[in-house]
Amino acid sequence: MNYVQVYIEHNSLSLNQTFTYQTEQDVSVGCRVKVPFGHQTLIGFVDSISNQCDLDTVKSVLEVLDPKPLLNVELLDLASWMSDYYVTSKISCLKTMLPPALKPSSSHTHVIYEQWAMKGNGSGSLTPKQTTFLASISFPCKLSQLRKQSRTMTQRLIDQGYIAIEQRPKGMSMPASLHENHSFTLTSEQKQAVLIISKSNDTVFLLHGVTGSGKTEVFLQLAQQVLSSGKQVLFLVPEIGLTPMMINQVSARFGKRIAIYHSQLNAQEKYDQYRLVKEHKVDIVVGTRSAVFMPFSDLGLILMDEEHDSSYKQENMPRYHTRDIVKWRANYHGCKVVLASATPSLESYARAYKGVYHLVTLTHRISVSMPMIHLVDMKTQKTHFGLSQDLLDAISIRLNRREQTILLLNRRGYLPIMRCMDCGQIMTCPDCGLALSYHKKDHQLMCHCCGRTFPYANTCPSCGGHHFYQSSMGTEKLEEQLQTLFPSAHIIRMDADTTRKKRAHQKLLSEFERSGDILLGTQMVAKGLDFARVSLVGIINADSGLARLDFSSNELTYDLLEQASGRSGRQSQQGEVFIQTFDPNQYVMRCVLHHDYQRFFKQEMQFRHLGMYPPYVYMCTLIFSDVDSNKAMKKASQAKKLALSVKVLGPVEISMRQKKARCRLVLKAKDQKTLHDCVWKIAKAMKGNIDINMYPMLLEE
Ligand code: ADP
Ligand code: ZN
Repeated sequence: MNYVQVYIEHNSLSLNQTFTYQTEQDVSVGCRVKVPFGHQTLIGFVDSISNQCDLDTVKSVLEVLDPKPLLNVELLDLASWMSDYYVTSKISCLKTMLPPALKPSSSHTHVIYEQWAMKGNGSGSLTPKQTTFLASISFPCKLSQLRKQSRTMTQRLIDQGYIAIEQRPKGMSMPASLHENHSFTLTSEQKQAVLIISKSNDTVFLLHGVTGSGKTEVFLQLAQQVLSSGKQVLFLVPEIGLTPMMINQVSARFGKRIAIYHSQLNAQEKYDQYRLVKEHKVDIVVGTRSAVFMPFSDLGLILMDEEHDSSYKQENMPRYHTRDIVKWRANYHGCKVVLASATPSLESYARAYKGVYHLVTLTHRISVSMPMIHLVDMKTQKTHFGLSQDLLDAISIRLNRREQTILLLNRRGYLPIMRCMDCGQIMTCPDCGLALSYHKKDHQLMCHCCGRTFPYANTCPSCGGHHFYQSSMGTEKLEEQLQTLFPSAHIIRMDADTTRKKRAHQKLLSEFERSGDILLGTQMVAKGLDFARVSLVGIINADSGLARLDFSSNELTYDLLEQASGRSGRQSQQGEVFIQTFDPNQYVMRCVLHHDYQRFFKQEMQFRHLGMYPPYVYMCTLIFSDVDSNKAMKKASQAKKLALSVKVLGPVEISMRQKKARCRLVLKAKDQKTLHDCVWKIAKAMKGNIDINMYPMLLEE
């Protein structure tokens, strides 16, 4: 008889409590099992197994769901570490690591394979007919399609090796076109970077390269070296929807043994990709945050592009940071990590500065100089619909020259705030208490926090008035107004509303590349794009991020402005950038003006030091919620009484979420152990019902 300790997810349990069950079936650690719990049947993970038990009564396992454990030893260890480090239940970590199809609540799915025709290196003579047929094929394509056209000709070309067959899980797309992609001759800076990283004995490298300095090519050549030694490569990108170009480049360079993993895949596709890695059918994975949990067996290199990007942080429990997981796995596999960015996160740069990470820099663009920045003082400018005359003139010039423009407005929708002109009330979301935005196309109001929508009746709910202020605008309205100003321009809008459908990013971007004049959108237009004809970038509301009451708002604003600027003039034309601001003397604006990351870093570190913020202290926020706001406050106050060893700010009440009131405590400590012990003490006392957010850590190490 086997006695198994099982993790079960249930609200009433304290963190990491396990239950004992018995079974006569074969079972291993990490398998999912179906077990009775009270009146329910639940699915849990086996944590340990023994053949003895000193309990009097033990219930039986109803079913062992996995013949083999889903996670290997490394990933089970990683889950334990995450649970401890982020002060969260181990089962939530295990669930986070698995693709949706394998999560406890879902049953198995099976893979169906399809045959794809790939271009082969054939030999032997061909008839003119066969040559024409071969020339007409655009690889890759489904084999069944070719067979439909001519079964015999297809078979003959397969036999001669002109067509190669590849099995792919059904539903998984091939990259639209596998255009030939040859590696560049590296510039001397790139060559130096590749050499340092591959020859050094250090483990973590920070590749700080200005926008357009050719970081991608450095990645690809490093990956090439590792792949040819037979090891696997993990290539992380911030949000795949925004960087289809990166996938194309990687797959064009390395061909077929590549898996792609990101949020727009459905459960089946994710499962298929996961299996490909688990069965070692691929050598390189390109993916977003969750790809960091892929079941590699022999990892040789981890590349993390745009390492500063906030999408690397998961914003629900467990609130892990991909960078932490990357370092843990690199340590396990004994492989190197390259973190790369034009605007590194403060904590990564601080570590590089202290020599904890090996700093490698690319200081020049490949063939052009950095774009010229204009700070437009909105206090003194004549504006049309929120656009300054300077920016409008610059756009006209681009339209005449058939060059392209990118405009950033970090607010979607039509009117971001609906304020009644009669009574002054703002329409708010009943669940979150935040302002609702009007979306014209759907003719509805939307909460950008929880996504709930409400019909728009053109009436103020508190006074019945019918008039609303039109003070600020969102991307939808900007598009409308630009079209009025430039009637013949081809304008493309890219924001959360226009990219909901699968592959929408890719479609919009290729439309822009082909025939667009202006690409306007939210922060998704600021990241990673590399278009040769873009010579102008305009930032409509550069100050908006600075108003947020968050210690990192300067850093986020610097990143956004520098990254957005970096889209201008990347390949041949000299680029220009117009930044519209009400405060051109603010130091973030001054640093962006001169592309001076160093100066930004030094100044911002001083502020963090004065304010006692990361990376100078270890910090954690705890959020307590309850339908009753008094109760939420009481929980927070109770927790505060337990936090004697650390500095505590709060409790303060913050915005609601899902109809629940929320109260926040901020804990700070000079050393990690003190903070960590304190948070565990609180989490245990509160039975884990808290939202815990550990901030990226610090200068020691
Ligand atoms: P980054 O990621 O650093 O912003 P990219 O990797 O996108 O920059 O490179 C910028 C541009 O320079 C791209 O269009 C890329 O194809 C080109 N490029 C990169 N390396 C070279 C090279 N060695 N020679 C010529 N062009 C290059
Ligand atoms: Zn809401």
